[in-house]
Amino acid sequence: MKAHDGLYIDGAWRPAASADAIDVVNPADEQVIGRVPAGGAADVDAAVRAARAALPGWAATPPAERAARLTALRDALVARKDEIAETVTAELGSPLPFSQAVHAAVPIAVAGSYAELAAAHSFEEKVGNSTVLAEPVGVVGAITPWNYPLHQIVAKVAPALAAGCTVVLKPAEDTPLTAQLFAEAVHEAGVPAGVFNLVTGLGPVAGQALAEHPDVDLVSFTGSTAVGRQIGAVAGAAVKRVALELGGKSANVILPSADLARAVNVGVANVMSNSGQTCSAWTRMLVHRDRYDEAVELARTAAVKYGDRIGPVVSAKQRARVRGYIEKGVAEGARLVTGGPESPHEKGYFVSPTVFADVTPEMAIAQEEIFGPVLAILPYDDEEDALRIANGTVYGLAGAVWAADEAEAVAFARRMDTGQVDINGGRFNPLAPFGGYKQSGVGRELGAHGLAEYLQTKSLQF
Ligand code: NAD
Repeated sequence: MKAHDGLYIDGAWRPAASADAIDVVNPADEQVIGRVPAGGAADVDAAVRAARAALPGWAATPPAERAARLTALRDALVARKDEIAETVTAELGSPLPFSQAVHAAVPIAVAGSYAELAAAHSFEEKVGNSTVLAEPVGVVGAITPWNYPLHQIVAKVAPALAAGCTVVLKPAEDTPLTAQLFAEAVHEAGVPAGVFNLVTGLGPVAGQALAEHPDVDLVSFTGSTAVGRQIGAVAGAAVKRVALELGGKSANVILPSADLARAVNVGVANVMSNSGQTCSAWTRMLVHRDRYDEAVELARTAAVKYGDRIGPVVSAKQRARVRGYIEKGVAEGARLVTGGPESPHEKGYFVSPTVFADVTPEMAIAQEEIFGPVLAILPYDDEEDALRIANGTVYGLAGAVWAADEAEAVAFARRMDTGQVDINGGRFNPLAPFGGYKQSGVGRELGAHGLAEYLQTKSLQF
């Protein structure tokens, strides 16, 4: 798609007050593919004012009509699914089939789910002598990352619109073209002017201005824990609502009775897909000592097979970060089984699928989010040891458990301090609440739980 040279505010593309711009780079060949405005505080203010002005009208729009706009939005995204996939591939670097199957298809499903939820949700309930009303929180400031560019946007904007909130979106600087495409789809769907606004720009400039804006009622942020902590502090000081979807270091726990080959193969695929840039990725594989060597060999074979099937990471900065962690793993004494810090290609920000064995729980590569195609395999002695290791990080976003007996896996999953657990390879469910325990975040996205984030309650007594 062709980049817009303006910001989408109050129902139209308008020139930015700021003259700054962001070059969008294709990470597969390092070519500049577009240029978008880097909005400043004045642009954020104009967008927030538009969202505030549109709020009373949208909040009073019957849920069935809001649902109709969301259905139209879903349809607009469906009509552009090839363009979405091509745009994500161009600015994120993921292989086209993955962009089609995941980056385009998942947000379409999520948009559809909120069209249904908006229509079906009961915004009123009786509690004794009270009627409890679920009302929109107000103006939402949404700040999203680049790793699943459209999904992260839709997972915030669709429930916010379903709830009757209005939105200002500040998408990641690496993937603004997907965000512009989304704004076009919103426009085509007939969403009234000011209900959705887009300000592209830099995190510490436009993002910060949005998080600090006094007329924003709720800040919904997905990204790094470092920035999330800052945003939480600003929101706390202003007593405004905040939702944080942060990092993860999720454990893939393979219990001794499990089908080892299947658990390892699915586990490696989970880490390597999207070049490891998935906050919920199972980046720590926990295997019983008795089956450890077998698992390491299976993981090596699976990762090597992945070699030419993954795309680059998003940017030179991200590649430097991932390489730094690989070097650190080697320096800390972990055993490099395959991959390594060297680039497999001359052009593009590629990192080879990398597997570390003999990783101990306190190593940086077992504790910190790398956000690249890097798997750490840790041995455990018994189930209690596995649980201690699984729960032994500051994060708690996702995880997996494998066992011959489903009940055995569920019993273990109940003891994990984490927001989602896939049992024996359970599929992604776009209606299941997604979000973190501990420092992985505050709040939940997707499904009815995701809608509730954008509602506040009022009780009327009779
Ligand atoms: P980031 O936290 O810097 O950026 C996420 C979003 O926040 C972007 O839109 C960015 O512009 C914005 N932002 C940055 N600084 C801000 C500020 N001071 N105030 C307001 N907004 C600000 O994350 P990143 O640089 O894109 O990635 C760095 C690391 O974050 C990754 O390596 C990974 O560990 C983690 N990450 C996690 C997720 C997730 O889904 N949990 C997604 C992407 C990245």
